[in-house]
Amino acid sequence: MENSVEDQDPEIIKLFSQCLEAKEFSYSPYSHFRVGCALLAQNGSIFQGCNVENVSYGLSICAERTAIVKAVSSGCRKFKAIAVTTDLEDEFASPCGNCRQFMAEFGLDYEIYLVRKDLQFVKTTVSELLPKAFTPETLAMAKVQNQTAVTNSS
Ligand SMILES: [Zn+2]
Repeated sequence: MENSVEDQDPEIIKLFSQCLEAKEFSYSPYSHFRVGCALLAQNGSIFQGCNVENVSYGLSICAERTAIVKAVSSGCRKFKAIAVTTDLEDEFASPCGNCRQFMAEFGLDYEIYLVRKDLQFVKTTVSELLPKAFTPETLAMAKVQNQTAVTNSS
């Protein structure tokens, strides 16, 4: 389901232009697959990210994780939306599995916009892209169960 940008909130329109701008900074000499991202924090700050590849390939980092790392290292952990774009003209590229898990660390409900350069987009959420996610809450539940087990055995 594609959507058009005209009816969107000005904050989201700005997010789209910021993700397109970030793509211009992509360092992708190996794949030539440019990705740009813009992450909107709940306090209104926007963090841009692009993919940064490495000659060792495995060290390459995606645009989404670049933006999240920039936000967290600036003191922001609560997000409203993230917009991602590539050079694909007819497709809406979706975040990779690593990035879906990375996004889920900071919430399942924030919006994900897959944006084309003609500003057509698909809107989804972290939980839609990563159902039944393994989250910090999952780990916290295990700790509670372990504490209960220790208490019962002593
Ligand atoms: Zn990724």
